[in-house]
Amino acid sequence: MNALAATSRNFKQAAKLLGLDSKLEKSLLIPFREIKVECTIPKDDGTLASFVGFRVQHDNARGPMKGGIRYHHEVDPDEVNALAQLMTWKTAVANIPYGGAKGGIGCSPGELSISELERLTRVFTQKLHDCIGIHTDVPAPDMGTNSQTMAWILDEYSKFHGYSPAVVTGKPVDLGGSLGRDAATGRGVLFATEALLAEYGKSTSDQRFVIQGFGNVGSWAAQLISEAGGKVIAVSDVTGAVKNCNGLDIPKLVEHSMENRGVKGFSGGDALDPKLLLTEDCDVLVPAALGGVIKRENANDIRAKFIIEAANHPTDPEADEILSKKGVLILPDIFANSGGVTVSYFEWVQNIQGFMWDEEKVNFELKTYMTRGFKDVKEMCKTHNCNLRMGAFTLGVNRVARATVLRGWEA
Ligand code: GLU
Repeated sequence: MNALAATSRNFKQAAKLLGLDSKLEKSLLIPFREIKVECTIPKDDGTLASFVGFRVQHDNARGPMKGGIRYHHEVDPDEVNALAQLMTWKTAVANIPYGGAKGGIGCSPGELSISELERLTRVFTQKLHDCIGIHTDVPAPDMGTNSQTMAWILDEYSKFHGYSPAVVTGKPVDLGGSLGRDAATGRGVLFATEALLAEYGKSTSDQRFVIQGFGNVGSWAAQLISEAGGKVIAVSDVTGAVKNCNGLDIPKLVEHSMENRGVKGFSGGDALDPKLLLTEDCDVLVPAALGGVIKRENANDIRAKFIIEAANHPTDPEADEILSKKGVLILPDIFANSGGVTVSYFEWVQNIQGFMWDEEKVNFELKTYMTRGFKDVKEMCKTHNCNLRMGAFTLGVNRVARATVLRGWEA
């Protein structure tokens, strides 16, 4: 099922549980604004290259729209639309004063030089600058982008509107980025995992983890989980997969991955077929890469007892049903990976206040938000007698619906 169909299906199920008016349901589903721009840049060899960039601004009932910008060859309008919608529910679940948006450029960032990436980012910003802003839409990094990308967006935006650090989050700390933002999604994954395991009388230190993806989210999650005593027994990325039943040495794997641009060839474990990673024997499976990886075809073979969705929409609704029958507990993306956008909010607050927090405060506040978020999700599960995904969706959708009704429709 495509990402948009899957996300909309989850939304509709939540709307039904909440008994939402069908007209309100329709208005919540349709994006506020969809932007599509052409970005042509001269490549380093003098030839021209054209790319298509998108920004979908899904909803702003609760505040400025918020969400990452993704550089990936699979970026397409439906995917960006689904991811923008997920951001609306995610910011509401986290209870931060934002709506949802997502952007992206269909490109292979690994095949572009640094100066080509800079030119592409600047052209994209030139086309987008009128539609983003501190109180309208605040982009952040996502797959294939990072703090440097945000620095270029900030610089280009500032040429039109004056210096405005709060227009993007996930910036370098030297430009007003928040301490702790780089690790925030991974740290949030750890806090979310701890909250879920505690419900079942378990702790991170007695669990075996398998992590799909070793980019920003997966590598930080692996580091923090292993620091908390969890045994990370297998990890994969685009280059390959490695396994060690006694637990991988994660700091060494991080070093290897930085030096070799991937986990492949790591001597501290055995090579594993990446296709078999999701069905490895483990307690906790953490998909931290692309969407749609857990589907009807492999759901039956999954052996984990818990799935923590560090990626956005990694589980197809058909797989959801199969896994739920098997008794596998899934902590959904819109809660599990909300640590990133939560610390983005802290960064925006710091920029607006002109006051920098120390990292201890950032991490402490993040833990408070994640712990409270889990309690709120569980409460909705009880109220609607539903699983964790529907608990999170009803929580997010209900908050957005309430804000929408309060603001009214009078023209
Ligand atoms: N790209 C991240 C996400 O999917 C972070 C978004 C943000 O910080 O605005 O949640």
